[in-house]
Amino acid sequence: MARLSIGEFAQASGLTPKALRLYDELGLLPPADVDPRSGYRSYDRAQLGRAQLVASLRGLGMPLARIRIVCDLPPRSAAAEVASYWRQVEADTAARKELATFLVEQLSRKDTDMTRPPLELTLHSAARCDRGLVRETNDDAVHRGTHLFAVADGFGARPEDRAAGGVALQALAGQDAAVPPGNLLKALTCATAEAAESVRRRAGDGAGTTLTAMLWSGAQFALAHVGDSRAYLLRDGELTQLTHDHTYVRSLVDEGRLTEEEAATHPQRAKLVRALHGVEPTEPDLHLRTALPGDRYLLCTDGLHAVLTEQRLSGALRTTASPDEAVEHLAGLVHDAGAPDNLACVVLDTTAA
Ligand code: MN
Repeated sequence: MARLSIGEFAQASGLTPKALRLYDELGLLPPADVDPRSGYRSYDRAQLGRAQLVASLRGLGMPLARIRIVCDLPPRSAAAEVASYWRQVEADTAARKELATFLVEQLSRKDTDMTRPPLELTLHSAARCDRGLVRETNDDAVHRGTHLFAVADGFGARPEDRAAGGVALQALAGQDAAVPPGNLLKALTCATAEAAESVRRRAGDGAGTTLTAMLWSGAQFALAHVGDSRAYLLRDGELTQLTHDHTYVRSLVDEGRLTEEEAATHPQRAKLVRALHGVEPTEPDLHLRTALPGDRYLLCTDGLHAVLTEQRLSGALRTTASPDEAVEHLAGLVHDAGAPDNLACVVLDTTAA
């Protein structure tokens, strides 16, 4: 077979001769032959497939070290590796988008009001976590810290697997520290990665946990979410869900294949499409928000939101005074309804400092 010169090969593969020399040095794409006297590189036509794959992966922005791994894998494994890389990129981009939005918001505000100091808020919170009236164990967990608040709902076949929620929150609690607002997303990303790592070490196959966590700094908070626990905001009497359920039925509703009503009673309504798992790495959704004085936040597991309609939830949050009163009232309503699942919740109020 006729060999191609580096120039011809560059043209056929869409890579530059300079890139080809670099990939040769890295062992990523060595030429078929190098003339010992002239140092002249030549390539086989059969190497074009690999070269085009390298060019495409570079187009995705994949680092060279990772490209090398992908190129040496059989096609199916390579496909999984690309998919996993892309999930990571999307998660990173989402986190950066939140940061960009935050900076735009903050800088625009600076321009209009340079004299006002950054808003400080005081947080008032209460939490509750109980077994409910039917389950024999409590696999829900709650963390009510100084800056960090979270709920988790463990799942799995064995009790030690279902303890994944507690494992995640224990790891998370170690990161309950003051951080400047600009570092909130990064700090919470690190904290959830730590929690995910603890779950990976401890939970068996098919086991894992949901996680919905907020980390506060002044009037700003970062929110990390994976699974079907939820975060809500009650502002000016109106309840808004801040998180998106990572459930199978939610994706069917989003695709228009199921109505909200059908989803609420669907036999597979608890089936999760994303969670912190024993095996598969998952990136949580990340958000960055600015709170206002008078906001009320609720974090809760499905033991609460699947039992109470949004109307009752909103009514309970609107008509109770302190966070303590709110969590007790909510738990009471769930118990009155038979408390078929474990329940965990945090209610958090903000007031001007
Ligand atoms: Mn549950």
